[in-house]
Amino acid sequence: MSTHHTTTGTLNAGAVHALAQARHLLVDLDGTLVRQQEAIDGAARLLAHFHDRYAIVSNNSTHTAQGLSVRLRKLGLRVPPERIVLAGELAVRQLAQQHPQARVLLAASAALQRYARAQGCRLVSAEAEADIVLLALDMHFSHTRLSVIANALRRGARLMVTNADATHPGPHGRVVPETGALLAAVVAASGVQPWCVVGKPAPLLFEEGLRRLGAHAGRTVVVGDNPLTDGEGAARLGLACVLVGESPGAVAPTVAGLLVQPVSEAVEPAPQYRLSDSTSKVWRSVRTEVS
Ligand SMILES: [Mg+2]
Repeated sequence: MSTHHTTTGTLNAGAVHALAQARHLLVDLDGTLVRQQEAIDGAARLLAHFHDRYAIVSNNSTHTAQGLSVRLRKLGLRVPPERIVLAGELAVRQLAQQHPQARVLLAASAALQRYARAQGCRLVSAEAEADIVLLALDMHFSHTRLSVIANALRRGARLMVTNADATHPGPHGRVVPETGALLAAVVAASGVQPWCVVGKPAPLLFEEGLRRLGAHAGRTVVVGDNPLTDGEGAARLGLACVLVGESPGAVAPTVAGLLVQPVSEAVEPAPQYRLSDSTSKVWRSVRTEVS
């Protein structure tokens, strides 16, 4: 009977091996390193292991990298702001650089509003003035806000969205509604589909992470918890991906499980996976497990 490399133990060993071979790491934040107000088991050790060879790549659209760096330090994770790539900030920079004259109706946190002004975006609040609507995770989203956005879009403004995640994991198994949930309301009310979605699985964030690290895709591994954003985004760029958490393709419940040396490697000279397996093969095996 032939041996299939699909048991959890083998995948876990393969994932550990992929990380051991990785030169650089692009790591997701929510559900991978932190869950709301706490660091996830193993997060600090993983970042310490890759100390100057990782970047956090997150669909977060409420914080700035500066603000998030401070928040993470309180959770025991020391991450310099220049190694945090966020969908909200990146969307604002895209707008400021590629559409500097556009009048922007921005539905976002106060922090992202301040960041947009600092980047030179021309922010407007009236529906008749907007050329572009940028939708981020706006905690003060309301019926009034929805009405202004929907009518701006119906008048011809284009819809840019930081990320399309419906939720992210919160504490005690709860979910936190995300920008994608607000997007569903906007699309329902306006009949207008997004012109541009910046966050994963689109390639912009991973490309920016690679650029900041001076990293090569072939020696970079993505670690995340969501097959639809982290997994799909990595696959589109040919990056290896290791998933943790609750999803079907996950190799361990938390990143702590990625740091454990596989027993087979220590005691058996011929483990079921081959040590020469490339990280992309690891990813394919994970994909097989999902499908
Ligand atoms: Mg996540």
